[in-house]
Amino acid sequence: LIRLRARLARSQSTLGKGLLTLLSRERLDDETWEEIEDTLLTADVGVTPTQELVERLRERVKVLGTRTHEELRSLLREELLTLVGTDFDRSLNTESDLDTPGIVMIVGVNGTGKTTTTGKLARVLVADGKSVVLGAADTFRAAATEQLQTWGERVGARTVRGPEGGDPASVAFDAVKEGIAEGADAVIIDTAGRLHTKTGLMDELGKVKRVVEKHAPLDEILLVLDATTGQNGLVQARVFAEVVDITGIVLTKLDGTAKGGIVVAVQRELGVPVKLVGLGEGPDDLAPFEPEAFVDALIG
Ligand code: GDP
Repeated sequence: LIRLRARLARSQSTLGKGLLTLLSRERLDDETWEEIEDTLLTADVGVTPTQELVERLRERVKVLGTRTHEELRSLLREELLTLVGTDFDRSLNTESDLDTPGIVMIVGVNGTGKTTTTGKLARVLVADGKSVVLGAADTFRAAATEQLQTWGERVGARTVRGPEGGDPASVAFDAVKEGIAEGADAVIIDTAGRLHTKTGLMDELGKVKRVVEKHAPLDEILLVLDATTGQNGLVQARVFAEVVDITGIVLTKLDGTAKGGIVVAVQRELGVPVKLVGLGEGPDDLAPFEPEAFVDALIG
């Protein structure tokens, strides 16, 4: 976790440090406030949250009058924390129910990191002493099934797979059945993220969801979002949110961008908390999203 924090700090610290430097200027004129706004917008915080934050900061700095660096730092920390949101329930519901495993469905556009996240999440649960079954329901992308199976072998989880190009819902069904039969603690289902048409996606994911729910309550539907895709990613996220009821967001590739503001933008957009962040390609590079640690990484 310490290593992950360090990586987060490395990638994100330019935003907060930049803000703090600007706020520390002797004269906070309109130009400086514009620069502060630009810094936030560049980091993908989004227009409305940026305006709100700048307004709050202007007000509070005015009230403060003369200000020390420490005062500005804690003021900024407080406001960023409010922006990121401390009252979301970010806990992951993967507990098994009476006699069915905890069921997690992973959705998102191809290339965002679904399969990788499925593997990493399995790793977290297995490390916690849980038995996990993986469902390779991304039957569309040729290599996805192999990739997931490799992850399964790596982290100690069994992978249920179907024929290439087969019906995703039937693979999901088999995985849940297998999970129940084995008395597994959790089943994680990787899905395909073809964004050809909204109805196509809706049909496919809707069917997977319905089939799963016939056998066990679906505990989490996690939307995987690539932090490096900015506003484009948000548009796609919205489509998925219209198709299925997302319970949490996994923000991947946060190690490869300084645009951590997307956390704020996507939560606003979907009204759903970021629950996990991806900070690399390795098995241990998935971490729970902690607002305090995140904001501290921003400010440095
Ligand atoms: P999928 O098509 O959504 O299943 O995407 P994949 O899981 O295959 O991931 C696409 C690429 O992104 C792969 O090369 C992954 O190794 C990489 N990737 C996934 N998550 C992360 C992350 O958190 N950080 C980095 N740097 N790369 C990631």
